[in-house]
Amino acid sequence: MKIETLMTRFNGRCLYCGVDVDPHGEPNAPNTATRDHFIPLSKGGARGATNTVLACNECNRAKGDMDPRKILFVWLRLDARGLLEIMEQCTAQASPRRRMLN
Ligand SMILES: [Zn+2]
Repeated sequence: MKIETLMTRFNGRCLYCGVDVDPHGEPNAPNTATRDHFIPLSKGGARGATNTVLACNECNRAKGDMDPRKILFVWLRLDARGLLEIMEQCTAQASPRRRMLN
């Protein structure tokens, strides 16, 4: 997929950090536009356009062959843990009142 097509599809912004990328930037410049396989090929990602996203050089390098589905999984787990803490707090706060009512 051409970098120009990705520039249009992603409004000229890195999918990961949102920075305006430069399609004609120097190969080592952090903001230079790159193609990134969202699910890395090494993790079973497809070669086609559906798995190709626009990323800045810096994010593409930082991501490497990391599978973003795992990041989402970790995120959800952290969020779920946060929800559990809130639920426990709510239960702890509610229990004396509940005892009084019962
Ligand atoms: Zn980026």
